[in-house]
Amino acid sequence: MSIEGDEPVIQTEDEVNESSVPSSKRTKTSMAWECFEKFFDDKGLPKAKCKNCDKIYVARDGGGTLNLIKHSLKYDGRGNGSSYPPLDQEKYREKISEVIVKHNYPFTFVEHEGIVDLLYFLHPDVKSISRNTAKSDVLKVYRKEKEKLKSYL
Ligand SMILES: [Zn+2]
Repeated sequence: MSIEGDEPVIQTEDEVNESSVPSSKRTKTSMAWECFEKFFDDKGLPKAKCKNCDKIYVARDGGGTLNLIKHSLKYDGRGNGSSYPPLDQEKYREKISEVIVKHNYPFTFVEHEGIVDLLYFLHPDVKSISRNTAKSDVLKVYRKEKEKLKSYL
């Protein structure tokens, strides 16, 4: 069911085309068109098919692009991960190390499928790490904390 006001003309089950849209300064219309593929239906009418969800709109010249623009805004920034704030990989690795130390988790913790899944869900740019990386990270944090402690004394 569509909850948008604009009626899709046809719904097809074609594969979803995940093309990444480079974000630079362009007009809204041309941005919208990057989200769509123009084609002519069997009656020769110009149509626009969304590359992301296969929704089809009538592609009229002139005012007809408003629906396309509106629809494409849903995908603004997608495909290059920019709808998420940039991930501080270093901070994330530090956090993971802290969790391992605090709760005495095994280094294999970072390889657990559920954890990898969860992290990826939270941020798609997350780089999963191996137990060896986790181990060296924990040692790094440990050394850093030791240095901190030394400077206090
Ligand atoms: Zn769509």
